[in-house]
Amino acid sequence: MNSELAMSEASVDNQTQGYIRARQLQAVDRLIPAMMIAVIACAGALYAFQRHAHPTVLPIWFGAVLAVCGWRTAATVRRNARPPRRTASAPAMRNLIAEATLTVVCLMSVPSWLLSQTTGTTYAILVCLLTGILWAGCLTLATVRAAAMVYVATGAAIVVIGLLWANQDFEHLMLASLFPLGALTAMRSVDTQAKMFLDNQRQQQSLTKQSDLIGLLLKDYEEQTSDWLWETDSSLRYTNPSDRFVEALGRPSDAIRGATLGSLLQDEEATGNGAACLQVRACAEARQPFRDIVVPFTRAGEMRWWSISGRPVYDETGTFLGYRGVCSDVTATKDAELRIAHLAHHDALTGLPNRAFMSESLHQALRDPDRACLAVLSLDLDGFKAVNDRYGHPGGDALLTSVAERLQNEVSGGDIVARFGGDEFVVLNVAFTSPSEVEDLARRLIESLSTPVPLDNESVTIGVSIGIAFAPTDGRTAEELLKNADAALYRAKTAGRGTFRFFEPEMDRKLQARQRLVQDLRNALTRDELRLDYQPFVKSETGVISGCEALLRWRHPERGMISPVEFIPLAEESGLIVPIGMWVIQQACREAASWPSTYRISVNVSPVQFRSRDLPQVILAALTSSGLAPARLEVEVTEAVLIDDADTALEILRQIRSLGVRVALDDFGTGYSSLSYLRRFPFDKIKIDRSFVQELDTRHDSQVIVQAIRDMAQGLGMTVTAEGVETDDQAKRLRQTGCEELQGFLYSRPRPANELTFRHGEMSSETIRLQA
Ligand code: C2E
Ligand code: CA
Ligand code: CA
Repeated sequence: MNSELAMSEASVDNQTQGYIRARQLQAVDRLIPAMMIAVIACAGALYAFQRHAHPTVLPIWFGAVLAVCGWRTAATVRRNARPPRRTASAPAMRNLIAEATLTVVCLMSVPSWLLSQTTGTTYAILVCLLTGILWAGCLTLATVRAAAMVYVATGAAIVVIGLLWANQDFEHLMLASLFPLGALTAMRSVDTQAKMFLDNQRQQQSLTKQSDLIGLLLKDYEEQTSDWLWETDSSLRYTNPSDRFVEALGRPSDAIRGATLGSLLQDEEATGNGAACLQVRACAEARQPFRDIVVPFTRAGEMRWWSISGRPVYDETGTFLGYRGVCSDVTATKDAELRIAHLAHHDALTGLPNRAFMSESLHQALRDPDRACLAVLSLDLDGFKAVNDRYGHPGGDALLTSVAERLQNEVSGGDIVARFGGDEFVVLNVAFTSPSEVEDLARRLIESLSTPVPLDNESVTIGVSIGIAFAPTDGRTAEELLKNADAALYRAKTAGRGTFRFFEPEMDRKLQARQRLVQDLRNALTRDELRLDYQPFVKSETGVISGCEALLRWRHPERGMISPVEFIPLAEESGLIVPIGMWVIQQACREAASWPSTYRISVNVSPVQFRSRDLPQVILAALTSSGLAPARLEVEVTEAVLIDDADTALEILRQIRSLGVRVALDDFGTGYSSLSYLRRFPFDKIKIDRSFVQELDTRHDSQVIVQAIRDMAQGLGMTVTAEGVETDDQAKRLRQTGCEELQGFLYSRPRPANELTFRHGEMSSETIRLQA
């Protein structure tokens, strides 16, 4: 293990030496061409001056100089043209020493010999030339200590020999001793320079190693994380893109290398990311660090989001080298963010915009000065509740989804369909030129939603009511428009199903009054403002009371008595009818329990009470707590109960019947499909509506109709009660048709329990007090 380590250390050391040798040779090579040119120039000058004095030696020498210089320059230029070598061997260094020796001998031998042949100016020139060649070589070879030493020593020796060749007098001796001295100085300087160079190289080498190591660590980091590193050069162009960066970008590395920072991801048309790219670019141009700039872009047609951070890098002298940074793919986070933002503005079930989105869009549309017209359509489904009750939430959801689709199919491009929750939808209509177009749209929507929807292998039909408000006539703010469209919707609903209404200022007033009344009604129960009046019904043959119908009364603290015709619909819409209805049942049972056991009590029950499935329990509890015999209680329902969700209603009616309670069908003859309902449920009693009774006086066929109803009821085992009997004549005709029971002002108006009286019809004209 140790020996392996030692070996690897040794090989690392060899590598370092090889690397340093290569740098030494490179430094020499860089200087050689210049030195050669200088040498050739000097040699050329010498040749020019002295060629007549030494016509044989000098041309040969000059030729040799040219050859040596040419050879060395050519070799150097060739080497410099190649990519710098990473290492150099020890023999390469020895070659350099040999070449240096050869060069110095060739360059200096002839000029040194000439010293013995000349005097005066030429002598001085020669000394200068030789000194120059010595120093030039020394400086050129300075980074390779051994070569420089050999060169200087050999050169100095040749000069000394040349100086003392012919004359050994004092002056020549002095001059000759100066050269070794200069050579020593040169060697000393070479020593220092070479050392500095080596130190420098070693340092560089360790720096490179360090940065290689950092590179390796970073690569390792890059492989382990979802981030990529990137770097640019000083002109902000990407350099050395890592494999993972290339892969993540999904572009060829050549396309990345050289691309400028900020422009690489730019695809303005697809993603509109120009601003983010500009921001990156601006930071880089200002040489500022930047952090987590999120840039969207498309990769292979798929939207990605990258978060980019980077900082400028400088060298030790403060020169800007480029940018380094990191990129991470934040697509998942961004997707989640977008999804959350989408959810905040959209309905999860249908994917339609929600109330918040619609309000914002309305605000914006109202602020748009170019927008001439704008209509808000408020929609409420008819009969949705019943579908939800019958098919459960999955069925209700499927229906809402199909409604959403149909609505979207009907509107135009710029229009917005939103779901406000439950079965409320709002359409913002912008693409119209006249109100009649909005009317057409409303009609189309009504028609489209009244087409049956397949649910659970059945086909379900619902409807929609629509209220319409226009901007700016019906409101200048989003809130006002929505509120007024709602007011119009309310009117549409009260006008009957499947209709639309335009907003009228009157509606707003009425709606507000209505809302106030609902609020008051909410308090009515607790403030004891409700009470029951009782209206008797009598046996038609004998005029004997068979029971009383309980009728709800509300004494409003400011408005006085309010008719149930006015407040029962409010109670139904607001759901208040459930607690109020419960109170009515309890109160009526309690009251009737104190009457003679021959008197029945009739209680009106709203279809809304049938939606809360615990109606049978409520009735049972009232019977139990009051001790009233079930057979004395009668529940009056209208056929509306059977319209919304007949199956559930029939089931509840059966449960009520199973308690022993009687069930009566109220207001018979006002609906349209009464007969079919009679076949679906065995009512105990049918109450013929007041309108028929009153027509008995004027229309001859009324008596025939009443007769037919009575015969049919008898066939089905039901009794018939006529309500709204006001005159003796009406009573007489009804008796003739065989109606079992009569009820109306003729006998008694509805009265508080303690005032119960009635006129005994044709039997007697006296008023009889109900006996407790
Ligand atoms: P309804 O069930 O048809 O009740 C009969 C209505 O006819 C009562 O009006 C009664 O006062 C009125 N009436 C009785 N005899 C005559 C008559 O000879 N001539 C005329 N013109 N009217 C007569 P009221 O009390 O105003 O109740 C109106 C409706 O309010 C009721 O019609 C019923 O649908 C509803 N209602 C009353 N009390 C309750 C209640 O406790 N629960 C529910 N769900 N609805 C109720
Ligand atoms: Ca009734
Ligand atoms: Ca009635």
